[in-house]
Amino acid sequence: MKAIRWTDWMFHPVSEQPESYAPDPNDLVWQDPVTETIFFMPEEEYDGLLRQLEEKLATMSAEERFWHVWHQDTIPFGTREPLQLAPHMPYPKPLYARHWHNATKSERMRTRLSDHVLIRTGLYYALYHPNKENWPALRKQLLQIHSPIAQPIDQFLSTGQWIGEPQQLSIVKAGAVKIKQYFMETSHLQEVRGASLLLDELNRKRILRLLAEYWTPEILVYSGGGNFLILCPEAEGPLCAGKIEELFKTVTIHAKCVAHTETFSIRDLAMDRFQDNLSWLEMRKHELQMLKLPPTDDISPDINAYRSKQMDISFKIDHLNDADRHRLAAHADSFLRTSDKPLCQQCRQRIADVQIDPYQDEPRLCCNTCLHKIIAGKNRSVFVEEMKDLFQRLGKPFADMALAETLEDIIKSQRERYGKDELAVIYGDGNNMGAVVEQIRSFQVYRYFSHLTASITKYALYTTLQELILENHQHDKAPFEIIAVGGDDLFFIVPGLYGLETAKRLGRKFDAGFRKYPASGDDEEKLTLSVGICFAPYKIPLTVLFSTAEELLKSAKQHKKQSRVRGGTLDFMKLESNSPFSQNVQTYRQLNHVRTVRTSTGKQFTLHHLFRPYSWDETDAMQTFIRKLKNIDTARQLAFRLRDSVIQMSTKEANLYYLVHFCTARFDDKQDEDRHCVHECYRAFLDAPWTKEKNIKEKYFPYIIIQDENQEHLYTPWHDVMELWDMEEEELWQESLPSNGT
Ligand SMILES: [Zn+2]
Repeated sequence: MKAIRWTDWMFHPVSEQPESYAPDPNDLVWQDPVTETIFFMPEEEYDGLLRQLEEKLATMSAEERFWHVWHQDTIPFGTREPLQLAPHMPYPKPLYARHWHNATKSERMRTRLSDHVLIRTGLYYALYHPNKENWPALRKQLLQIHSPIAQPIDQFLSTGQWIGEPQQLSIVKAGAVKIKQYFMETSHLQEVRGASLLLDELNRKRILRLLAEYWTPEILVYSGGGNFLILCPEAEGPLCAGKIEELFKTVTIHAKCVAHTETFSIRDLAMDRFQDNLSWLEMRKHELQMLKLPPTDDISPDINAYRSKQMDISFKIDHLNDADRHRLAAHADSFLRTSDKPLCQQCRQRIADVQIDPYQDEPRLCCNTCLHKIIAGKNRSVFVEEMKDLFQRLGKPFADMALAETLEDIIKSQRERYGKDELAVIYGDGNNMGAVVEQIRSFQVYRYFSHLTASITKYALYTTLQELILENHQHDKAPFEIIAVGGDDLFFIVPGLYGLETAKRLGRKFDAGFRKYPASGDDEEKLTLSVGICFAPYKIPLTVLFSTAEELLKSAKQHKKQSRVRGGTLDFMKLESNSPFSQNVQTYRQLNHVRTVRTSTGKQFTLHHLFRPYSWDETDAMQTFIRKLKNIDTARQLAFRLRDSVIQMSTKEANLYYLVHFCTARFDDKQDEDRHCVHECYRAFLDAPWTKEKNIKEKYFPYIIIQDENQEHLYTPWHDVMELWDMEEEELWQESLPSNGT
């Protein structure tokens, strides 16, 4: 048996080929419940880390134990610090390697020590509902490694068996509604950032403080991407559900969160019944999320609810009463008012509540929802703070820099250097999540899964931005903006020239982070990433860029599902300032870029102008192809002509045109030579590694014929080449290009 050294993985979790070893018979070996990777560590190391942690815990109060040891938002990848590693070790103690072969699958699986201790504490609280006076002492006993008072619960967590009288508890499942609409109500970068910051704080910080005030924060099983799972004393489920909904309303006013609660017997949550019951709860919550609830006006807005520190407000806020509104409505543009009330100038959807001057330009009318976003947007991005922590662990430099204030700030240095105004808006999301979640049989795995996806996603994104954008350049303002990264979801903006490479590297890392190691053939792929990239001049409204990226993500995901390509996928589109395309990418392409072609012998093909969506290998090959073409003087015109031949000529004519002009062996002039070089580049493109996964039937230049189950498809790369031509710059990462496909 081969296994991965756990401390290697903690240091670098997204290695494509982590080194595997044959463990010593006395080493500890276990399997990851999400990726199924087999890990090992020497027993002395395990015992040593545990001992160090125990010594540290002995000096701490219950509060300190929770906040400084057990509770961590992300897995501290990149660390070799014993005390940082210890809470993430497997628990209960794993098997010896010598017992591995006779063990069952469930005997091999382990989650982390911190998952075990926190779920144990939360379950204890929910099942026995201790009173406020007794809880601190009990909590302290539960928040240590070995806890005699938790014996029945520990047994339940390890084996799924509940000994003794069955106890009841409530479980609350909550989920935010239409988060993306909430982000994207306005195109102002700082407001979008503010919305993101508020949601992220709710997910990770404020919810815990709320639970700490009424119950205890250990009852939170997980929170991520606006979803929460909470254990609660039987009678208190509805109160908890209500408090969560209220918290969201108070802080965001308009981003709703719905919560559903049910009572269960602890026996209903044993491993064999766990998933059925949790899926049912999820379904009920989902039904609530789908309901169109009328807006409630019983909200008292408080941007600082359950926040440790008050947010800075750097501008004056004038609250409007009805007389003010009436007066202001009389002067408002007709599309910015109702019959007697002015609308918010930011979202143009709601009645204005205040008048403010946040950007020192001119006073604005604003609703409370947008006001909170504006205030929050002036605070520092949480994601930059996280990046800083990660790079510190990795020993990489991180120059503190100001955030971009506008989209123009993001492209500033690109424009100075390359004269280009395009942004890349990138939206990514994991494939196969549902199938992985269905396999979950315990609260600990739920918790671990939520932490693992968020941590790998962040690690992949932050290290990629560091390598590509931060490492070699000096910036006074950050040339990127991370709008959301939570769970397996990513939404960020980089300068256009970095779009394709960032998405591909990030995707490869994500896929590697979730692969099963040691690699063993077909079953090694678990979660993969799909990405949509919208390239566009920064002046196009962000809402348009975002919805386009969202559409492209759908297309990339569909490709992943249908094509059975290995690893993740990406799709892209470049918008011009007056693009004909509006919103629905698939329909637009079906109408403009797919044709059915019949040959003279009656044979039928589908002709695709577009070569995308791509796998990561195809992205590599396309980038190399374009880079090589750029070294040929007239390649741009030639590629342009080939693209036109595909649109204007019949397939036979286009083929003849290609053969005559590009495959000639006679070089009369420079033109002929260039054409020959273009042909050579194209051939190299068609010999790159991506072709191994495609069933290429024939190179019918300028087309290639790919056979799928039902019929033959003609593809050409020329539309893609032209669209990406200005979005690939040879010098940016030529040296650092991994496995470049040729
Ligand atoms: Zn508004």
